[in-house]
Amino acid sequence: MSRRTVKGVGVDEQTRCAHYHSRVDIVAVKFYCCREYYGCYYCHKEKADHSERKWPKEQWGEKAILCGNCSSEFSIQTYMNVNQCPECAQPFNEKCSYHYPLYFEGF
Ligand SMILES: [Zn+2]
Ligand SMILES: [Zn+2]
Ligand SMILES: [Zn+2]
Repeated sequence: MSRRTVKGVGVDEQTRCAHYHSRVDIVAVKFYCCREYYGCYYCHKEKADHSERKWPKEQWGEKAILCGNCSSEFSIQTYMNVNQCPECAQPFNEKCSYHYPLYFEGF
């Protein structure tokens, strides 16, 4: 499987970053504004040269989530309905849902 580029601060092999680096922080999110993957919201804030834009609800079918463990991509819609990777079953950080409003519109 091809390795996708994930931008950010101190991003490791499994997309953990300087801000979120527990065992379960293995999800990278593609930003609507630049269609680039970042380790997290703060990574985008520090590294991108523009303000972030959130995914409008009608585009939640877009593949914008990357599992850092198996490198599979899936849609925002799918991500909201699982607490582990649909491909490799690696558990995701459940606290991520607190951060949905940072990435996705409609909260
Ligand atoms: Zn951006
Ligand atoms: Zn980060
Ligand atoms: Zn996975």
